[in-house]
Amino acid sequence: MKFAENTNQAAEYLRQAIPLMVKHNIPPNPLNYALWYTYVSNRVPELNQELDKTLTTYGTCPNLVGEQMFREHMIKDEIDSAENVQAGLIALVNNLHEHAAETAEQTKDYSNTLQDSLDALQADGGPALPLETIIQTLARKTQDISNNTQRFQQRIDDAQAEIESLKAELEKTRQDARVDPLTGLFNRRVFESELGTLLYGSNEGAVTLVLVDVDHFKRFNDTYGHLMGDKVLQYVGKLLREFCPEPMLPVRFGGEEFAVLLPSATTEQAVDLSNRLREKIQAIRIKQKKSGEVISSITASFGVAISKPDDSINTLIDRADQALYSAKQNGRNQVQFAP
Ligand code: GH3
Ligand code: MG
Ligand code: MG
Repeated sequence: MKFAENTNQAAEYLRQAIPLMVKHNIPPNPLNYALWYTYVSNRVPELNQELDKTLTTYGTCPNLVGEQMFREHMIKDEIDSAENVQAGLIALVNNLHEHAAETAEQTKDYSNTLQDSLDALQADGGPALPLETIIQTLARKTQDISNNTQRFQQRIDDAQAEIESLKAELEKTRQDARVDPLTGLFNRRVFESELGTLLYGSNEGAVTLVLVDVDHFKRFNDTYGHLMGDKVLQYVGKLLREFCPEPMLPVRFGGEEFAVLLPSATTEQAVDLSNRLREKIQAIRIKQKKSGEVISSITASFGVAISKPDDSINTLIDRADQALYSAKQNGRNQVQFAP
């Protein structure tokens, strides 16, 4: 969801949203801000209908229901939109913060002016009591206004802190979208983006790609179970992290396939690295808890390709894939290089 309002309009929505949230006893967390901001902007009529119905039923909007609505109507599966919510809200709160600070400043000036008038009256010889009383009262009232404004300022500061925590939360979401949760390696999305930069950017040198595919992994899962299979993938991920430091980029390509990008390596270096990894994978020993059996049958095949000047992401991956296919055809547990 995009938030295209200008700052004034957006600030106006926030001014409308806060009293509504207070009225309905809605906790002022970042998610609820986004929800109620959208509610007052009336941009998602289904959300308004659902929220109205919820208010009628519960008299408020329970947290779980609010979260559900937020997911359903506001972020769905697009993380980028959540970033826009965040950016929009930060702009909003900043604007409101300035506005409130200005108001506080004006109120303080008013108070000073009244105080000056009072001093003048007292110095003029012979206190005019009735007048003084009036002015003292006015000064007191002004102080009240000032206090109020300060409280308002405090609320806005709180809102800003909430928004900042939303920002941190979104940063984590973004990170989650880049990292494979099982192995902790970056995922294919990151791989393609990096490969794109290396192939199409100003970088002159060739880039080498290694594709890694665990052998007969379906059979492994069938024999030892999926959880044991997951352990193997985690272990391979750990090996890749250990043996492929920067500037290399090891990723989980998908399923039981991994890939390593080597930005500045010769074919020989890439093949050497692959063989070292191959031996490490072959040396994996996992003890089965139940039977005590030690599993020692894990191997992987490797396909290596180096980029040519007119390669695209797909043509390079295709060549590495063909080399991998040859490795499988030739008996697995080996490294093949694509010409
Ligand atoms: P090949 O040697 O030809 O590569 O045979 P293979 O069995 O490894 O290849 P195939 O593509 O037939 O099967 C891949 C298997 O990998 C099937 C699938 O269940 C398993 N797999 C994919 N992702 C995961 C995962 O996250 N965890 C586990 N445990 N298994 C997975
Ligand atoms: Mg495979
Ligand atoms: Mg496989």
